[in-house]
Amino acid sequence: MRIGIIGAGLTGLAAAWDLSQEGHQVTIFEEAEKAGGLARGFTRSNWDWWLDEHYHHLFTSDRAMHNWLAELGLDQEIVLHDAQTKSLIGGQKYQLDSPLSLLKLPMLSWLDKLRVGVVLAFFKLLPTGQWLERFQTQQFLRLTMGSRAYRILWRSLMEGKFGDWASRVNLAWFWARIKARTKLLGYPEGGFQKLVEAVADCLTKNGVQICLSTPATRVYKQGRGWQVKSRRLAVTGRAEFDQVLITCSGQIFGELVPQLPVAYLQKVNQLKMLGAVTLVLELDQPFFDDGTYWLNICDDKWPFLAVVEHTNLIDRIHYGNRSLVYVGNYLPQNDARLSMTAPQLLKQYLPFLEKVSPSFASHLTNHWVFASRFAQPIVELNHSRILPTMTTPLSGLYWSSLQHVYPWDRGANYAVKAGRQVAQLIINKGIE
Ligand SMILES: Cc1cc2nc3c(=O)[nH]c(=O)nc-3n(C[C@H](O)[C@H](O)[C@H](O)COP(=O)(O)OP(=O)(O)OC[C@H]3O[C@@H](n4cnc5c(N)ncnc54)[C@H](O)[C@@H]3O)c2cc1C
Repeated sequence: MRIGIIGAGLTGLAAAWDLSQEGHQVTIFEEAEKAGGLARGFTRSNWDWWLDEHYHHLFTSDRAMHNWLAELGLDQEIVLHDAQTKSLIGGQKYQLDSPLSLLKLPMLSWLDKLRVGVVLAFFKLLPTGQWLERFQTQQFLRLTMGSRAYRILWRSLMEGKFGDWASRVNLAWFWARIKARTKLLGYPEGGFQKLVEAVADCLTKNGVQICLSTPATRVYKQGRGWQVKSRRLAVTGRAEFDQVLITCSGQIFGELVPQLPVAYLQKVNQLKMLGAVTLVLELDQPFFDDGTYWLNICDDKWPFLAVVEHTNLIDRIHYGNRSLVYVGNYLPQNDARLSMTAPQLLKQYLPFLEKVSPSFASHLTNHWVFASRFAQPIVELNHSRILPTMTTPLSGLYWSSLQHVYPWDRGANYAVKAGRQVAQLIINKGIE
């Protein structure tokens, strides 16, 4: 079969691998200059590794990714690191990544700690969590951990991330976050972009054609086949396929395929997403003085959610001996900060960053900003009832995206899993 895939993120790449392994003729259309989607990276002339535009790491529980890379012969590229995760509470940093560190937290009573520990252990041990979607995260955590522990540990993270939707996020989302988390973190040698390039090489060897800088503008059925339109396609501006897989967010999916039935489109449009904006700082000295990799900001007055010093996970030697720090935030899709320049964003963040690292600004050598409007699905109560399946009402058209990894939270591992799942559906169904 001739199969067109829209999007060269990890979902599209993973699907392309399985489809090409089965001997299908696969073409990927990607609007960006590089493959990788949200896991894309950039580099500089004096760096020998890529840096992800948005902070990334893997967990040891990310089995779909590890298995896939093993099949591609790329599993040796992932190296495990032990990194320090801390939380900023009341202006102080506290390590909060193990039961022992929880016990040391001074502002919680022993009873609070016991309740928090029991609830987290329950989620860790629970094998499946989708049934939890009938409960609200906030309500459940307040009730089980106690309102003080909830307020100190989780409220600002929930509200900072989900804003007005925080009270509607379902408990399956929280379960998935706790379940997947591991202390050891994996990171590909050379950065995620290097890994993506290695995957793209494997695909090309399998005969997959990857068309970069080629945005699809329309996908429509004509006769028994599917047409993908892009002004970057030579001669006719379109290409014909037997099946098409779209891996973009729901909004883009809806815009690309005008033939989607109205009732189905309404379902797609009900799915909500947050955008993400990441400020990247390059410094000639470390930002944190204690080797912290990840700092959660548990204070809702701060304009960002996390500060991540990448070079406390990966040696700065790979980046021209500079320290690299991400300042991350999730925002509603219409928020003006998603289109701010790096200097504008830094101006807003500066007084807060100085509270953690008072003289960092005098060591700043460069800064960049990366924004994505489609970064984090918002999963409300009983989300599975509104989530459309990967098969669509139009035969030969499939949709697999960040949304389809539910009840897991968005993640590179789950993108690979979703990509392989939809490839299997396409293979099993064949041409109708
Ligand atoms: C801030 C942030 C931090 C993250 N941290 C982690 C982490 O630590 N660990 C982890 O595992 N995951 C992390 N993730 C999530 C991970 O990056 C994603 O889950 C994964 O990359 C999603 O892959 P995807 O292919 O499903 O979607 P995407 O990566 O969004 O891919 C979709 C692709 O479609 C392309 N496209 C869109 N429209 C068109 C069009 N019209 N024509 C052609 N192409 C088009 C896009 O350019 C993109 O390349 C993070 C994400 C963000 C935003």
